[in-house]
Amino acid sequence: MLTKQMAPGPTELSQDVREAMARQLINPDLDPSYVEFYANMCRKIQRLLHTKSDCLVLAGEGILGLEAACASLIEPGTKVLCLANGVFGAGFVDFVAAYGGVPVVIEKDYRQAITAAEVEAALAANPDIKLATMVHCDTPSGLLNPIQEIGPVLREHGVISIVDAVASIAGDPLRADEWGLDVVLGGSQKALSAPPGLTFISVSQAAWSFMLARKSKPQGFYLNLLSWKDSWLKDGSFPYTQPVNDHYALDAALDAALTEGEALYERHRRVAAFTRQAVQEAGFRLYPEAEYAASTVTAIEVPAGVPDVEYRLRLLQKYGWQIAGSYGPLAGRVWRIGHMGTQCREQRVQECLDAMLACLAEFR
Ligand SMILES: *Cc1c(COP(=O)(O)O)cnc(C)c1O
Repeated sequence: MLTKQMAPGPTELSQDVREAMARQLINPDLDPSYVEFYANMCRKIQRLLHTKSDCLVLAGEGILGLEAACASLIEPGTKVLCLANGVFGAGFVDFVAAYGGVPVVIEKDYRQAITAAEVEAALAANPDIKLATMVHCDTPSGLLNPIQEIGPVLREHGVISIVDAVASIAGDPLRADEWGLDVVLGGSQKALSAPPGLTFISVSQAAWSFMLARKSKPQGFYLNLLSWKDSWLKDGSFPYTQPVNDHYALDAALDAALTEGEALYERHRRVAAFTRQAVQEAGFRLYPEAEYAASTVTAIEVPAGVPDVEYRLRLLQKYGWQIAGSYGPLAGRVWRIGHMGTQCREQRVQECLDAMLACLAEFR
């Protein structure tokens, strides 16, 4: 039985994306047509993020982008505001500390979004904050933060923003320039439904200037975004050999998203609303407060007395549906249905939910 993916990433691949990935390669370092291909792919990302900032595709899963942004922007002593109302939001605190930064943390219940007013207050109390990290959709809790309101506050204070939008891009609208976002991070395997293995990143002029003005130059090479500024952005060469076939797949996924246009976001909004209603009618409790729920993933509480891991294994092996548990403090307490990208269809959600209920009956 072919497993039906319903986890919030990696998401199921479309036929088009799989065929693109299977194409014969061309040499990324020696064939000039690859330079054109890569530049074009980056322009598609600019369109998707609504930004004029430089966009890059890095060879590594989403976490690479998060760490590269921190490694490139943070030096010992840099004060960084961390918006920590979720597993990924809190995870940034560790990255900041790892690169010698001084985290100033806004902690909040994982069920609730952080507001622009809370950010404003933290900046007023700490005027020497230079950077801020935040997460748009914090996937483990299915929560969406209002970065459209927070971004402008940070920009007004001259604070460079690092935004993990891995799980929201191509599912919930994101307008990087309009919202004053400096560094926006995405991944291939979430709502774009390309295979895992790539991260993409937009870098504003202010963020580049901040990197160049560091007292100590970033250590290392692979995580250092300046190595791309000194190669690709200078003369069209790559700092290392590019994963050609992963790029083909991402490029095809970008085409699909851009072709669907605004309807893409409408579909995610509609299916998310459908899912939230259907799970509640089926007797589940939503994890995040409904007004802060993301359009790409629905997090629900594991019903009392049901063994998380055993249940999900049964659902997978007997019913053929893959849903996800959660992480950190939410492990064992939350299940997640990823209605993003190829998985964002009412009927698919309904079939998954039917299987979940049949499986649940076995545990009662
Ligand atoms: C998926 C995801 C990432 C990438 O990390 P994983 O290794 O796939 O967990 C980063 N940030 C968010 C919010 C994500 O959902």
